[in-house]
Amino acid sequence: MELSIRDLSKTYANGVRALDRVTLTIPKGMFGLLGPNGAGKSTLMRTIATLQEADSGSVRLGDVDVLRDKQQVRRLLGYLPQEFGVYPKVSAWALLDHLALLKGIDRRRERHELVDALLQRVNLLEHRRKAISGFSGGMKQRFGIAQALLGDPRLLIVDEPTAGLDPGERNRFYNLLSEVGENVIVILSTHIVQDVKELCSQMAVIHGGQVRYAGSPADAEGERAGAIWSKSIAKDQLESHRERYRILSTKLIAGRPQIRVFATTSPGDGFTAAEPDLEDVFFSKIADAPREAGTHAA
Ligand code: ADP
Repeated sequence: MELSIRDLSKTYANGVRALDRVTLTIPKGMFGLLGPNGAGKSTLMRTIATLQEADSGSVRLGDVDVLRDKQQVRRLLGYLPQEFGVYPKVSAWALLDHLALLKGIDRRRERHELVDALLQRVNLLEHRRKAISGFSGGMKQRFGIAQALLGDPRLLIVDEPTAGLDPGERNRFYNLLSEVGENVIVILSTHIVQDVKELCSQMAVIHGGQVRYAGSPADAEGERAGAIWSKSIAKDQLESHRERYRILSTKLIAGRPQIRVFATTSPGDGFTAAEPDLEDVFFSKIADAPREAGTHAA
């Protein structure tokens, strides 16, 4: 089963064009949707999750017309939104059991087994009696995955799931997602390049509502081979370098700024060739101004 998005567009009532003819084919596995804040990621996720309407274009999940057959899509879909609502004082077990009941899993025994199995899968079984309101950020996100997996979805959408997680929690969450991604289409929407680099076999960069890149992370890095240059400078040189070069990123290394630029031929001036990484690709793909999207229509 594949998710196929064709020419999807959406302009909000205030004139912001959040999606501009987005076309993507998303196979089984982990797919990273990478873009800065305001790129249109949530709009795309919510549209695929049948929570909002597009103006034009089509989305198909296998044989299902996502924009029309909403009920059918919802049966195939698990969704972990950016803000997973309020966390009540009830226990993880009780809430998951309740959500399973809402999903229509009526038979008590079957439901209880499923709840145990899902909590086990996300490594929360030992915490099942604790109130979710007292969970850490990482535990809440893992609970979010457990609820999204109720009903055995074919498509799982997770929107900015690692924001606010510490490195250990993020790692546990990565491991869980990549396990899920072995059998299901998982779309991971994020502005964190590392999320995509560590997890995703396929990805897209979206900016100003437009797809700027679609393919594998490795191919994206390959595209920029020989075109990334770095230089270590003094802090007071930063301004003059900003005027002269299109700087992709600046990092402090031992207190000195190291700048990276994108140029098809060597800039000279003390720059040395650098191995491109996904961050370079991301920043170079979103560096040029959007053609027309993300701005207010006339
Ligand atoms: P992302 O998830 O990548 O941060 P969004 O899809 O939330 O991006 O937003 C894309 C653009 O659409 C932004 O410019 C945002 O301000 C705008 N936008 C999002 N939701 C609405 C809305 N309900 N009404 C008007 N503009 C919106």
